[in-house]
Amino acid sequence: MSRIWLVSITAIAIAFSFVNSAEAEDITTKKLLIKDNTNVAKRQVQVQSKDVGVTLAEADDPSLLGAAVHLYSATDDYCVILPAGPDWSTNGKKWKYKNRTTKNKAQVGDGKLRVKIKSGVTYSLIDNGVQGVVDTQVQFGAGTRYCMRCTGNKKDESTKFQAKDCAAVPCGAEPTICDSTVTTTTTTTSTTTTTLDPACPTGDFLDVASAPGAGGTYPDPTLSVSCTATDVIVTSNGIPHYTYIATTPHPLSAQSHVFTFTRTPTIAASTTDIPCLGTIGVSINGIPTYGPNEGPIPDPYGDPIANVTLHECMGHTGGNEDYHYHALLQKCLSVSGLVAEPWLNADPPSNVASSIVGYASDGFPVYGPYGCDDGVCTTVIEYLSSWDATGYESVDCTSSLDCSADYECALAMISGVRKLACVAKDYAWDNNAYSAKAGTEFLDECNGHVGPLGDYHYHATETFPYILGCFTGTPSADVMGGQCPPGP
Ligand SMILES: [Zn+2]
Ligand SMILES: [Zn+2]
Repeated sequence: MSRIWLVSITAIAIAFSFVNSAEAEDITTKKLLIKDNTNVAKRQVQVQSKDVGVTLAEADDPSLLGAAVHLYSATDDYCVILPAGPDWSTNGKKWKYKNRTTKNKAQVGDGKLRVKIKSGVTYSLIDNGVQGVVDTQVQFGAGTRYCMRCTGNKKDESTKFQAKDCAAVPCGAEPTICDSTVTTTTTTTSTTTTTLDPACPTGDFLDVASAPGAGGTYPDPTLSVSCTATDVIVTSNGIPHYTYIATTPHPLSAQSHVFTFTRTPTIAASTTDIPCLGTIGVSINGIPTYGPNEGPIPDPYGDPIANVTLHECMGHTGGNEDYHYHALLQKCLSVSGLVAEPWLNADPPSNVASSIVGYASDGFPVYGPYGCDDGVCTTVIEYLSSWDATGYESVDCTSSLDCSADYECALAMISGVRKLACVAKDYAWDNNAYSAKAGTEFLDECNGHVGPLGDYHYHATETFPYILGCFTGTPSADVMGGQCPPGP
């Protein structure tokens, strides 16, 4: 979604030349303290994390690039840049910043991050009474950008906001750019409307070069992600980052995939059907994603999961010898999945919000099935498809031996309840139907929703349509082809 702010201050920093491509990481917060005072000199901000996710290796050289500390809430937006230079020192175990004049301090090492700001604090509590939720993002140079999100669980008052032991949950979108590696030019203007594009999402994709690859004589997987002013461009050779196991007669060959989608997706006036065959998006390892049906064979336009032609990571090769997914599995599409046999990994915990597993061709991200139920992530819930299997034979099968020849025992949504059922193997779109359901866990027809932070996105689901039911935004020119033919 394009984010537009009305800026009505006399000086604004313009930073269009830079695209933040840093890895983002949600970490726990040990302590967050914001003190307000009518005497600005007595204001203070402190943030501390003791999280194993913080490492010295992920901090970029702040003596050359500085560090950025960004605190924001629904009402406040405060960015501090700790500048590059001799105030930074390292003993090989941590980076330390200390300025004698400002009394500002920071340090980062393995499992530890601390920031104390005592000068020039413009974050004000007095004008709002309460803050509710405060997000803090800290980045050393161009290193990992750490996100810490807290409610004022110890104090949320007009002079003090204090939080302790906050869980690692995603931050809301940053209202402005706060980055020490940005070269800013300051212009003087009275009132300006500024459109800030979201950051290029390079950090959402996997480093497939660090994975074992498909094995045998297959080439190594390749993947690159870049951005123009308007679009994200993903190129890959379509080789899986894990051991390839054939499940169709088609061999696996390297491809020259180029996926292009907008950086600023918006909800279109009406939805668009996904194509019967071909790409609907890309997963975070550069493999194309397809819709929930196959071609004319083995069972015409059938559900790929019920057709049992998929490998355990939910991919297989098609007629163009191209490996593609019909469903997205978080354990295959995560940093811990960068191994030879990620399908043997444990399933991700159901109490942790899923990360992004792919992007749809309309530019909206696709998350794994788990997500926060509200803005501070009180509970993590599994998001579910609102598509019901209609062409099923019977429920509560234990294997396909319980089903007739044209049916397969598979997980399906039956009137909003997930069950094993003998589902039809052919004409997937005729044997499933969308019906809106009450309950925040149920997704819309396209398999997405406006999440608790106000952004639209899709969730990969365990049942039909698995990835997308349609496009909520406007698909890019990558998407070709029409609807599947109807069943007999
Ligand atoms: Zn397929
Ligand atoms: Zn969601």
